[in-house]
Amino acid sequence: MKAKQAYILYIVVPCYNEELVLEETSQQLKSKMDELLTSQVISAKSRVVFIDDRSTDNTWDIIQKLHKADSLFGGIRLSVNRGHQNALLAGLLTVKDEADVVVSMDADMQDDIEAVDKMLEAVDNGADIVYGIRSSRKRDSFFKRSSALGFYRLMSAMGVNSIYNHADYRLMSRRALNELANFKEVNLFLRGIVPLLGFETATVEYERLERKAGESKYSIGKMLDLAIDGITSFSIKPLRLITSLGILISGISLFVVLYTVAVRFLGDTVPGWAFIMISIWFIGGIQMLSLGIVGEYIGKIYNESKARPRYTVEEIL
Ligand code: UDP
Ligand code: MG
Repeated sequence: MKAKQAYILYIVVPCYNEELVLEETSQQLKSKMDELLTSQVISAKSRVVFIDDRSTDNTWDIIQKLHKADSLFGGIRLSVNRGHQNALLAGLLTVKDEADVVVSMDADMQDDIEAVDKMLEAVDNGADIVYGIRSSRKRDSFFKRSSALGFYRLMSAMGVNSIYNHADYRLMSRRALNELANFKEVNLFLRGIVPLLGFETATVEYERLERKAGESKYSIGKMLDLAIDGITSFSIKPLRLITSLGILISGISLFVVLYTVAVRFLGDTVPGWAFIMISIWFIGGIQMLSLGIVGEYIGKIYNESKARPRYTVEEIL
């Protein structure tokens, strides 16, 4: 990024059935934008854009009203509910050509808006991507906290590179968004893709606040979907595990053969026992291994089918 200028800042906010919080959220965002405008950190072309993920309540009416009353606010409405990640992507990709930097945040004001100042400072210092990191989860319920921790552990065990305690509160520069647009995959897990973009990154800590009103729109089902998407869109480790298991069982079957033969001649066995024992272990091992080999090929097809960019150029001299 070019340093020290009045940035055109876009804030994109995915909203699903957020009628209870939108009034307050828009007020807070407006006063923040006004403050940044007066201190000449951002330009007058800056906007706040709400993405209505096809809510079933009055969310879209409220967004329309806000837009009519104040040109600071814009709106995008999806034709069908596609979930937080897709709504967010729709917002990011729609505004990227208008903005210098885009901040994504939730509609419920759990992400502390004051952190935007620090994010812009990081941009001054050369960052293209700034991650908002929760400094504590004191205010989350026990269930949310432990499920989130389990999620990060599982992700890193599966080899997915994601940033600890970072949700989708982040700033991205226009050129980072242009690179993001090159990722064409359908199963989207932004938290996994953004670190793949590279560029200069920075982190900003903030205290996660309580939801202003309404209930969490992430049901247990949606959280599980996110976790499964996160792992299966980034890792073929689950397939590798089958191969390893196949090798392990084949190895064990050798010992079983020795053991069975020994018992057959030294001990007292029913006729046919040795044959069945050896068959079960041997065939089991071969089957598992074959499954793993098929899995390896599927993993290759899977990686190819995503057609991810193989490299990203930052500068050419
Ligand atoms: N959201 C969305 N589509 C959905 C579910 C959620 O756009 O299908 C939005 C929601 O309006 C909010 C953000 O995603 O702005 C995060 O949701 P929420 O605050 O309910 O999740 P939590 O903070 O409880 O994880
Ligand atoms: Mg929330």
